[in-house]
Amino acid sequence: MVTIGHFIGGSVVPPAVGGRSTEVFNPATGTVAARVAMADAATVDAAVASAAAAFPAWSQLSTLRRARVMFRFRELLEANRARLAAIITREHGKVLADADGEVTRGMEVVEFASCAPRLLAGAHSDNVGGGIDNWNLRQPLGVVAGITPFNFPVMVPMWMFPLALVCGNTFVLKPSERDPSASLLLAELLREAGLPDGVFNVVQGDREAVDALLVHPVVQAVSFVGSTPIARHVHDTAARHGKRVQALGGAKNHMVVMPDADPDLAVGAVIGAAFGSAGERCMAISVLVAVGDMADRLLPRIAERARALRIGAGDEAGVEMGPLVTAAHLARVEGYIERGVKEGAKLVVDGRGRQVTGHERGFFTGATVFDQVQVQHAIYREEIFGPVLCILRVPDLATAVQLVNSHPLGNGAACFTADGATARAFARSVQVGMVGINVPIPVPMAWHSFGGWKQSLFGEHHACGDEALRFYTRYKSVMQRWPEGPARGAEFTMPVN
Ligand code: NAD
Repeated sequence: MVTIGHFIGGSVVPPAVGGRSTEVFNPATGTVAARVAMADAATVDAAVASAAAAFPAWSQLSTLRRARVMFRFRELLEANRARLAAIITREHGKVLADADGEVTRGMEVVEFASCAPRLLAGAHSDNVGGGIDNWNLRQPLGVVAGITPFNFPVMVPMWMFPLALVCGNTFVLKPSERDPSASLLLAELLREAGLPDGVFNVVQGDREAVDALLVHPVVQAVSFVGSTPIARHVHDTAARHGKRVQALGGAKNHMVVMPDADPDLAVGAVIGAAFGSAGERCMAISVLVAVGDMADRLLPRIAERARALRIGAGDEAGVEMGPLVTAAHLARVEGYIERGVKEGAKLVVDGRGRQVTGHERGFFTGATVFDQVQVQHAIYREEIFGPVLCILRVPDLATAVQLVNSHPLGNGAACFTADGATARAFARSVQVGMVGINVPIPVPMAWHSFGGWKQSLFGEHHACGDEALRFYTRYKSVMQRWPEGPARGAEFTMPVN
């Protein structure tokens, strides 16, 4: 059995003899596909040292030359997209077309990062007074770390490292231990693209590796994406150790459907957004807020479509929904369904115990739909991260917005309507980081930043886009004068124009 190792200083580092490791599953078959090494503090230290050693030369390279590495990396991603998608499907379980889409969304960040020379150009003010010019620089931080979740093993790391690298930083990635293989292929492609050794490193592992990064004195900044409790832990620990930190957490995304919405559009949208990738998306719709009589009009069609979902292994043609990532996660998701029933929500479609012929040991569950969900139910309050849709009924838009705004998580929210004024009011008043109008999963493009509000993000900066350029650089203002006449002597008042 293969044990997946780390990537430090430009080469794969095999797991330490006698070191910890854990199982990596193929969720469609339920079998162990590999083992993955668990880095200890010494391995993390080696990765950070490698990144620190590479920093002076990399940060001194011109931005254009750093960007050219991204150009070549982008071409290699294109050439290897099928390989990457297959790795994602094998370890995560999502269907191949979705895995391919994940690669594309990651590549878009690389494309944005390729524009770094223009993006990092500062502002210059000529002759602000007394022969003085003033301009600004954005300079890299040093060694930065990225800690990523299982649900996007390619895209989420690529929200981070392309932009961190073009800004001149060096990087240590700690991917999810549940689907670690993609990180090593990304590292190899970066090396093939001409990235100098040590600029990008990977440490596999769990809490031990994460905590070593959070307190490491050389690490300047931490980008994290994962669940809310861990995001809070990462934020608080890293901030206490003087680091810049952005920690994106969990989600409970509401889709509000107004009585004037196109029902065909709304049904198609909610089915894809609730059950795509088995609901294991931070932008999945897990709550449908039906305004007025919309629940009665939509529910029969949603239920019919949910029952008919084609469920199977992600690499089989025609499959719409693959398995959950692990047996433990399957048990957790089905445990929530049990809780929803006990708490009195109306179970309309029960996905539990789903068997897929030929894959009897796979981690499958079907699509589940609850109606008459109440705000006090655990299935509404907590993130389930599985294919479970909760329907809540409200009388009007104001109540719908109030519901979204009262939820402690605020990643995304969508409103389906035919009315511009309703859409505008929703977008302006809803307290979340990403809003969709007749778009169920409004994941911003790479040059618009990505992130939530409330307990969906700890820290000041969203990921990607201009926010990432700010996060991964320090701002410096320079004032310069080259005196032309005699020295002016001491000045004791504030210089003004
Ligand atoms: P997770 O929080 O369990 O793990 C995320 C990372 O933290 C992994 O690398 C993991 O190894 C590490 N980790 C786990 N437990 C830890 C601990 N106790 N101490 C230190 N590190 C620890 O998340 P997950 O299950 O891998 O991913 C799913 C979660 O990620 C969901 O909550 C989802 O909403 C969230 N997510 C959020 C976004 C976003 O943009 N806000 C995007 C993708 C996923």
